[in-house]
Amino acid sequence: MEERKLYSVAALAAVLTTLLFKYLLGSDIYTITAQYALLPSSYDPQPATLQVSKKTGKVVEVFGGIRKDKKVGKLINYGPSQILLPGLVDTHVHINDPGRSEWETFDTATQAAIAGGVTTLIDMPLNSIPPTNTVKALVEKKAAATGNIHSDLGFWAGSVPGNTKHLSSLLKQEGVKGFKSFMINSGVDEFKAVSPKDIEKAFKELSKSANKGHNVTMLFHAESSNKKTEKAIKKAIDSSNPADYNTYLQTHPVEYELDAIRTLIMKMRKYPLIHVHIVHLSAAEALPMIRQARADGLKLTVETCYHYLYFNKDDIPDGGVEYKSAPPIRDAANNALLWKALNDGDIDLITSDHSPSDPLTKNIESGDFLNGWGGISSLGLGLPALYTKMSADECGFGLSLGELVEAMSTKPAILAGLHGKKGLIEKGYDADFVLFEPESAYTLSENDLFYKHQISPYIGHTFAGRISRTYLRGVKVYDRHMGGILDKVARRGVFV
Ligand SMILES: [Zn+2]
Repeated sequence: MEERKLYSVAALAAVLTTLLFKYLLGSDIYTITAQYALLPSSYDPQPATLQVSKKTGKVVEVFGGIRKDKKVGKLINYGPSQILLPGLVDTHVHINDPGRSEWETFDTATQAAIAGGVTTLIDMPLNSIPPTNTVKALVEKKAAATGNIHSDLGFWAGSVPGNTKHLSSLLKQEGVKGFKSFMINSGVDEFKAVSPKDIEKAFKELSKSANKGHNVTMLFHAESSNKKTEKAIKKAIDSSNPADYNTYLQTHPVEYELDAIRTLIMKMRKYPLIHVHIVHLSAAEALPMIRQARADGLKLTVETCYHYLYFNKDDIPDGGVEYKSAPPIRDAANNALLWKALNDGDIDLITSDHSPSDPLTKNIESGDFLNGWGGISSLGLGLPALYTKMSADECGFGLSLGELVEAMSTKPAILAGLHGKKGLIEKGYDADFVLFEPESAYTLSENDLFYKHQISPYIGHTFAGRISRTYLRGVKVYDRHMGGILDKVARRGVFV
């Protein structure tokens, strides 16, 4: 009798424990079902069921198909009008804060990010003042960002003439994702271009860390000018109209990109442990050289940017300084070759190179290409813009949405050392998602932009699809159907 009583007490306790466990689990975990979700197993979206932990911000489980039996906690169901994608990762963003916060701030840039489905940004070491070439400067930048970010954020540091001794502490102590150098005038006085000798010094220093097993990534603005060509160009454009885009185009010839990339490949052969990443490739003529270097086993990766794929020089009106970037947007044939390279896997990833300034510095009034700020504002516009282009018959070369997202999320995450955490919808990864409506066409207006200054060459363009919702580590932070950014003061971003 006594034994039976004990048994029933134990059974009751077990039932209560199970219920309590389910209750606790249920209060933390919720479930998303999506008719179309982009999972790592396929480039084609498929039905999926996800369990997400609010507490950890991670994906707990992913099941193929709509699995009602796997529902835990609240259920959110996304129907066939939208596709669930991993949050986008943009590894090339200039936020300018501190020092040039009149151009852009962490608050404005990261609002634009989440509204565009970008859940992780990696900030460039310039054009803030000071540029982040030392630990002290990076600490200052982190202070400016703290409490002001709506998306997650990581940092590149600068490698400039004379800062070699700071590189390893930036890497090991501050956890920067790598280093950025300019091989041509950067546009700001405080961030100097490196010579081939400076590159060699940095490679030599960082090879010590690489030898100890650290992954060392160096990013290069790969354009090299020389006095002779500069002089010839100056003479050639002497009496040309500075508001004509062709005048500006002549000042950044293809040869500048080819020369720089050739130099880098040569240095890499001597220091093969350094991973070199070429940012914003514009000149398709460099692709055979890049292909060969990769075939030789060099750790060389390449990105291009939205504007080199979306625009060509014929799109640019006189005085259209909002299209000015370096390297420049080139002709339509070049544009097509970049799409092909992306499709062939010769270009790894796509970034924004969001580089805003105020309208005065940009020369919006005068339309003078030669003296206006070179940089295009496009953070958060990449997915709708490129989806539109690749869906058009003449573009895309059969690139799928899955491949596009791989180039805008998975591969940038890998570049920034965030694999295992960002860039895929997978168990154990951060629950960063973007919902994209491929059939919600819209025309971009100034009011859609969260930047400090509503300047962008994409204004007035009609995109075939639209971002509808963004989740950051399990929390919905943007919902176009519920007024946009859901909590402007929450600023849930963290450093990654
Ligand atoms: Zn840049």
